[in-house]
Amino acid sequence: MPGTVSRPSHEDLYRDAVKVLPGGVSRNTIFRHPHPLYVEHAEGCVVTDITGVRRLDFANNMCSLIHGHAHPAIVEAVTAQIRKGTAFTLGTEIEVRYAEYLCERGGFDKIRFVNSGTEAVMAMIKVARAFTGRAKIAKAEGAYHGLYDYAEVSQTSGPSTWGDIDHPARVPVARGTPQGVLDDVVVIPFNDTERSLQILRRHAGTIACVLIDPMPHRIGFFPATHEFVAALHEWTRKDGALLAFDEVITFRCEYGGAQQWFPVRPDLVAMGKIIGGGFPVGAVAGRDDVMKVLDPSDGKPLVPHSGTFSANPVTLTAGKVAMELFDEPAVTRLNELGDHARSQVWEAIRVADIPASVTGAGSLLRVHLGKPTPPRGYREALPDAETTKILKAMLDYALDNGIILINTGSVALSTPMTGAEIDRLSEVLLGAFRAIKPRLSARE
Ligand code: PMP
Repeated sequence: MPGTVSRPSHEDLYRDAVKVLPGGVSRNTIFRHPHPLYVEHAEGCVVTDITGVRRLDFANNMCSLIHGHAHPAIVEAVTAQIRKGTAFTLGTEIEVRYAEYLCERGGFDKIRFVNSGTEAVMAMIKVARAFTGRAKIAKAEGAYHGLYDYAEVSQTSGPSTWGDIDHPARVPVARGTPQGVLDDVVVIPFNDTERSLQILRRHAGTIACVLIDPMPHRIGFFPATHEFVAALHEWTRKDGALLAFDEVITFRCEYGGAQQWFPVRPDLVAMGKIIGGGFPVGAVAGRDDVMKVLDPSDGKPLVPHSGTFSANPVTLTAGKVAMELFDEPAVTRLNELGDHARSQVWEAIRVADIPASVTGAGSLLRVHLGKPTPPRGYREALPDAETTKILKAMLDYALDNGIILINTGSVALSTPMTGAEIDRLSEVLLGAFRAIKPRLSARE
């Protein structure tokens, strides 16, 4: 037919993709069997793929889209900025104004923008090292903090590698990780206060920062306890180490980030995801005296730090509009929708009568198959090989029924969503739970 555009199918595209991209993907997140799905366009909380299938997006680019897709105010602001230029070897006003905004919102003295969460965590670790003059970091077993060698250690620990819980092994993620990297990382069990303190005490005087995510996704998406955070805070005060929060995901949980959950404050905070309004972003922020190590004004910064696209004006324009729209009432409303979603998913688990539980807070949740009570630690939460297969079946069922989930069985809400989308989520999950029930029961 004249004017008809022939579109490739997912299979066609993937066949071409594997010829030029390792495994056919640029990020393992989108990889799935038999092939990834390719997007045509998206608006609000609906994503339309290249075959015209529409799905509700509960993944939101791994928790990074707080307003869903193509929010008109963001599109308009970004378009205006693109017309004025996209990147300069000079400063821009938006960089100053957005820094002022985020510092006020998060209670930070200073902030530096980078391009990803990985980079934000890397910069945070380097800042902590320079400030303290120490090389080691402590981090929680199982926590994902991006791809920096040190931040990665023990992220993928499993029963065959993790060792004794009193001395968790330093497990490399990538083959060829230098032994020197492993030697400089102290691994602690998340939310296990006594054990963590015992481990930290063995490294007194050598740790630059204790790095924790206040609600680590990979560990199990349950918040750090007040006791755990207070103990780490107290220990770092006595020891001269810094307390560093990775809020790349959790900044969405409260107006000023999940740090607001705790009576004590971290010295440094890494951010990313939602603060870019849909564009690649990262930032490290914190105390003036600590952030001073980045200051080049006397010609001798302790951490010389640059980045060709850092503080990119397109990103920061999108980010500032997005965060201004995600004001206190919007945060409250979305967190209430999160409470509603968690209770609906619990209800679906009850109705389907399967062994599973729900964790999460704010606008985030995670389903744990095979765990009738919510797990409280990484070793408890980590699914075995068979449960991981069943989880994949659940994700496929959801996709086939118009719901995009995060591949751990997690959900991130966005502001265009209402009770109707939550109803659909729980309806589809109920169907999925019923479909996987025989396999889940056989596993026991
Ligand atoms: N920290 C956390 C807690 C994350 O979830 C992620 C990304 N999933 C990162 C850091 C890394 O961010 P990015 O993918 O933007 O490098």
